[in-house]
Amino acid sequence: MLPLMDWRPRALLQSLHLDWLQQAGVEVAVLRLDQIDPLISGNKWFKLTEHLTAARAAGAQGLISLGGAHSNHLHALAAAGKRFGFATVGLMRGYAQQTPTTQDLERYGMQLHWLGFAGYRARHAPGFWEPWQAQYPALYPVPEGGGGLPGALGCMTLVHQVQEQLATLGWADYDAWWLAAGTGTTLAGLVLAEAGQRPVYGALAVPDDHGVAPQVEAILQAAGHAGRHFELIDASRGGFAKVDEALLAFIQTSEAASGLPLEPLYTGKALMALKQAIEAGRIGRGQRVIFVHTGGLQGRRGVTFAS
Ligand SMILES: *Cc1c(COP(=O)(O)O)cnc(C)c1O
Repeated sequence: MLPLMDWRPRALLQSLHLDWLQQAGVEVAVLRLDQIDPLISGNKWFKLTEHLTAARAAGAQGLISLGGAHSNHLHALAAAGKRFGFATVGLMRGYAQQTPTTQDLERYGMQLHWLGFAGYRARHAPGFWEPWQAQYPALYPVPEGGGGLPGALGCMTLVHQVQEQLATLGWADYDAWWLAAGTGTTLAGLVLAEAGQRPVYGALAVPDDHGVAPQVEAILQAAGHAGRHFELIDASRGGFAKVDEALLAFIQTSEAASGLPLEPLYTGKALMALKQAIEAGRIGRGQRVIFVHTGGLQGRRGVTFAS
């Protein structure tokens, strides 16, 4: 049986100081999911919480999931297993390799199985899970990235956490959300919790044609949410994990000026896309924006980004 987890991660809300924000008269506060815990970090933990509750209700002894050698999702899952004392298994994309992420996974006690590339591509095929469930009958399967409606439900708390902390910034209210989107699960959770009150802007880390909008709509529909209340912006700069000089320079300048650590796959691209939206006049003077720092800093260790 999984232990009862009463630990609720609390994310701090901090104002962000950058000269281009000040010049534009736009105020931004950052919700620091990168700093919720020394071991566990980022939106992937929030996306896991409902899956963990379901696993506990199902009487599981641990969790099994999938990801790559830099996966923030597997990192959060393995860290949670270590912290709360349950078994974790990771089905890995590609062939055995050591990265700072996989070293952490093993240190946290996650059992890894490398599926190769073709084997990993088969993860949506019918029958994929059967042999794994036969081998690990006590483990609860979690979809890649912790997505779907349970993942989104786990992110709804972010809206309440922001609203509880607004007064610490001297804010009476805010106008919009801005965050990096991969599958759009985290964004869907914000849309559900906002219930049409404020728009949620997703800065896509993947190109426009990745089917993120239908995925978000499917989650909203499954939750019975009517209306859209979100907008996706292509922030991918040519593709997922594609990195260019302008992006790296922007990250370096922003980190030095604000003290906010960023990585180039999600949060760096999302903040750069916010700057472009402000320059284009899409977010105007006097607006107050919540920028969600979705984490991912663990994945940038030991990675050299070619541009
Ligand atoms: C996974 C991830 C995202 C994307 O989250 P989705 O819920 O899939 O949209 C954004 N930022 C970071 C750092 C991530 O690891």
